[in-house]
Amino acid sequence: MAGCAASIALSRKGRSVTLIEREPTPRHKVCGEFLSGEALEDLHALGIEVASLGAVPIDFVRLAAARRAAEAPLPFPAASLTRKALDTALIAEAIAAGVRIERGRSVQSLSRTTSNKWEATLDDGTVWEAPTVFLATGKHDLRGYARPKDPQRWVAFKMYFRLAPAQAAELARASELMLYPGGYGGIQPVEGGIANLCWVVQQRYLARAGSRWENFLAKMQLDCPHLAMRLAGAEPLLAKPVAITHIPYGYIRRTSEDGLYCIGDQAAVIPSFTGDGISIALHTARCAAAAYLAAEPAPVFQAKLRKAMLAQMRLAEFAADGLNNSLARAVLPFCLRVWPGVMRVTAKLTRVAHNAALAPHAVAS
Ligand SMILES: Cc1cc2nc3c(=O)[nH]c(=O)nc-3n(C[C@H](O)[C@H](O)[C@H](O)COP(=O)(O)OP(=O)(O)OC[C@H]3O[C@@H](n4cnc5c(N)ncnc54)[C@H](O)[C@@H]3O)c2cc1C
Repeated sequence: MAGCAASIALSRKGRSVTLIEREPTPRHKVCGEFLSGEALEDLHALGIEVASLGAVPIDFVRLAAARRAAEAPLPFPAASLTRKALDTALIAEAIAAGVRIERGRSVQSLSRTTSNKWEATLDDGTVWEAPTVFLATGKHDLRGYARPKDPQRWVAFKMYFRLAPAQAAELARASELMLYPGGYGGIQPVEGGIANLCWVVQQRYLARAGSRWENFLAKMQLDCPHLAMRLAGAEPLLAKPVAITHIPYGYIRRTSEDGLYCIGDQAAVIPSFTGDGISIALHTARCAAAAYLAAEPAPVFQAKLRKAMLAQMRLAEFAADGLNNSLARAVLPFCLRVWPGVMRVTAKLTRVAHNAALAPHAVAS
């Protein structure tokens, strides 16, 4: 996401860009696939109209815990689209913008040469040299550039379902957030008449379910009957969910080295329930490309980015901690019924990109 966005921005400004992507073709990625208003704006600027790819408009957010559920309209336009469809469109746009793409090739290491260039060594031993690197490996850390360990040891899953017709109709244009002990999950419709269920759980809670996703999914439905209702009669569409571990929520990179701009999840990792990670990936890519074109050194850019994102990131973390608290789980949906505005306000305040305008103005034109 971030790598494609930065490549497109730089190539459109006449720079020679090579994008190295380890997957030969786009595949399913663990993601709730919610596109916030800011993400939609950035995608539009990149030439991607998600509606033409079949994206489903999302108008409501619903919060379900225990036996209660509360609903509020979203305070911004939003949509949902599978990552496979979105990643395919972004790669196509990058090719159209003149980016050279090396697919199915993985960067093994990155180092600084004596002539102040960057050297990327690929899995087949070939070496690529460039004056500037944009590090956008998402959830995967490169040796020597690892982010800190995630103390909660989060595990995340994504599964597609074809819901029973009545449940699909009830879900309609809503993104539903569900709370249960040890984590939270979200279900929402995506293109093709199917639904994405994406959930996170702390490793120790998964271990209590025998470290088996099926057991934990069954437990989630016991703890959150709203989810059991949604999944009644649903047909799973993948043999098993796609999964990832090590998600350092709340991480913001402090600094960088000359010529190394870190973007997307390599710059910052916001708690998933905000549905803002894609927007941050696109925003940090746009800002990093602008900083590079304005000759702003990478360490200066990285420090400015951190400063601009810190407050919203901490607020999102604070809200995520609240979601994981048993008292909050019990009372939150009840409170939201009384004052549904809380959901709208939280959704707005946790938009990082919206508040973090930091790109040098010189390159905005
Ligand atoms: C459970 C969960 C749910 C989420 N739900 C949402 C949501 O609903 N909405 C939202 O906006 N955000 C969501 N996010 C966050 C969002 O998925 C990420 O923030 C976003 O994908 C980050 O984009 P990126 O470009 O940094 O990384 P990615 O999109 O992950 O891209 C990284 C790319 O780098 C490639 N790569 C990795 N290592 C190498 C290597 N060594 N060499 C070459 N290529 C490499 C990978 O193949 C991949 O294509 C969620 C995250 C989680 C964990």
